[in-house]
Amino acid sequence: MTGGSAAEIEPLALLGGTFDPVHYGHLRCAEQARRELSLEYLYLLPAGQPPHRGAPRASVAQRLEMLALARAEFPRLLIDDRETRRAGPSYMVDTLQELRSMHPDRPLLLLIGQDAANQLHSWHRWRRLFDLAHIVILTRPAAHIDYEPDLAEQVALRAVNGARDLSASPAGAILQLDVEPVDVSATAIKRRIRSGKTPRGLLPEPVLAYITENRLYLDA
Ligand code: ATP
Repeated sequence: MTGGSAAEIEPLALLGGTFDPVHYGHLRCAEQARRELSLEYLYLLPAGQPPHRGAPRASVAQRLEMLALARAEFPRLLIDDRETRRAGPSYMVDTLQELRSMHPDRPLLLLIGQDAANQLHSWHRWRRLFDLAHIVILTRPAAHIDYEPDLAEQVALRAVNGARDLSASPAGAILQLDVEPVDVSATAIKRRIRSGKTPRGLLPEPVLAYITENRLYLDA
């Protein structure tokens, strides 16, 4: 087959985050979304310098190593390290612009948890995101839908019901995707480690072994 319309090209899907550290909340939700969206692969996209929070506790190299270790259990999740190679704050709009230049017609899917989606209006040039990608919002425990009015308007305008709607065009739709809730956060993992408890079961064993060996997240 040659050429092809957007409908024939598998969407390129990404879950951005700090991954400090990567955990089962990221991994199981991304894997569920990958299946629900009938994608062969999905990319985890670590931020180099997250714009909305302080510097990550682990270094870029350490966060990338933990992501690589997590892949043993989730081989269909790949890593896109482009934001870690860029200087300055890792604005998603810049990343999507770069991907759009490389893939002019391909549907781009930006996955975000409900907590992050509720804050989307605070992202750098947030309205431009809709020109560049579809947004897929993942259920997250304790994060209820709570959009400020401008964002609520965009969500209402752009809402689609199913994955098929996302293959039909390169960008612009919003899908609320119900995934089985996974009650894990990086904050909770770090809190457990600081208080001398093990976060076993909240992240893959090789990632936990790496954290222990490298004495990560021990101090406040
Ligand atoms: P922190 O506790 O420091 O806020 P985090 O656990 O939210 O970290 P991030 O790397 O900041 O992890 O999250 C990256 C993306 O993954 C965000 O869009 C976030 O909403 C989503 N995400 C993280 N954990 C979950 C989860 N348990 N369920 C659904 N989405 C999640």
